[in-house]
Amino acid sequence: MTIEPGATIGIVGGGQLGRMLSIAAAQLGYRCHIYDPHERPVAADVAAAFTRGAFDDGDALRRFGDAVDVATYEFENLPVGPLRLLGPKLRPGLKSLAVAQDRAEEKRFIEASGGRVAPWTTVDSFEQVEAAVENLGVPLVLKTRRYGYDGKGQAWVRSAVEAAQAWSSIGEQPAVAEAGVDFAAEFSIILARSADASVARFEPPQNEHRDGILRRSTVPAGPAVLAQAAEAQCVAAGIAAALDHVGVLTVEFFAAADGPIVNEIAPRVHNSGHWTIEGAAASQFEQHIRAVCGLPLGSAQLRTGGAVMDNLIGDDVLGWRDLVGEPGASVHLYGKGAPRPRRKMGHVTRVMPRP
Ligand code: AMP
Repeated sequence: MTIEPGATIGIVGGGQLGRMLSIAAAQLGYRCHIYDPHERPVAADVAAAFTRGAFDDGDALRRFGDAVDVATYEFENLPVGPLRLLGPKLRPGLKSLAVAQDRAEEKRFIEASGGRVAPWTTVDSFEQVEAAVENLGVPLVLKTRRYGYDGKGQAWVRSAVEAAQAWSSIGEQPAVAEAGVDFAAEFSIILARSADASVARFEPPQNEHRDGILRRSTVPAGPAVLAQAAEAQCVAAGIAAALDHVGVLTVEFFAAADGPIVNEIAPRVHNSGHWTIEGAAASQFEQHIRAVCGLPLGSAQLRTGGAVMDNLIGDDVLGWRDLVGEPGASVHLYGKGAPRPRRKMGHVTRVMPRP
């Protein structure tokens, strides 16, 4: 199925990822139609059409599905049932979404596809948290099975006495308990996969987080990551194939002493891939549009000596004047209005010349 330029791509979710997808789609001659419950989502500012609707509003989703030629999603915390109404127009499919939105399903799936995850168990009660502390040891981290992102829904247990506080701070919800990984670095594999199973792989960025939020991605990554990149690329491609994924897939890894450990997967473009706009021949956003529209994938090769992407979080964005005045800094502002703490307001990418 080829969706030709001029057609309309529906995007469920209207945040900054939808915004950058819309910009990439426009470059290829497509129109985008955003579906989002908010009054004025930032993607709608750069799209041809916008429907305001709840993610579980079947009637509104059906009308949206009728109005678009193909549909995709820009975040994974969406109810799966109503999206069935989009039928085969939805790419990636619902399997990618369902697996990625439940941390227990995700870990089982990763293990079944040949990836390694940190030792883990599900926990549904405080007694099970205590048992996990006993069996997995400390430090361990509790993560709610659903609706966690940017460190939300997570609590560390660094000694047994912290278990009760951690369980209460995640709202005593169904969760996974996961052993703390002693890693040398964090990195991600970002790949695009088309319906005919061809795959384009980006250089893996090394990622630095603070307070559970990505702060910086750097390409090329350091030696600890590069030593594991080929194995991680294989693991990520295996997961993409097992999901029959169409579009961009991101797999986040820890570079541990004994090899790559998968942290989590995102069935979509990812913050750690924003550097590809300036740093790669075809960006992650363009690759996703190409994949979901059935066009040939572009080249994921570096077109610079490397790139460093810094997120502008909360008040960081107030420094925009200096950044736009900095030669060579590519500034992306998401149009979100007043900054709020921990909110991703924009990013800036600096590319290095080719050696
Ligand atoms: P997540 O939301 O799962 O991506 O977690 C956010 C960040 O918390 C990760 O990028 C890591 O920096 C840290 N983290 C999460 N899980 C673990 C773990 N099992 N061991 C060590 N650090 C972790």
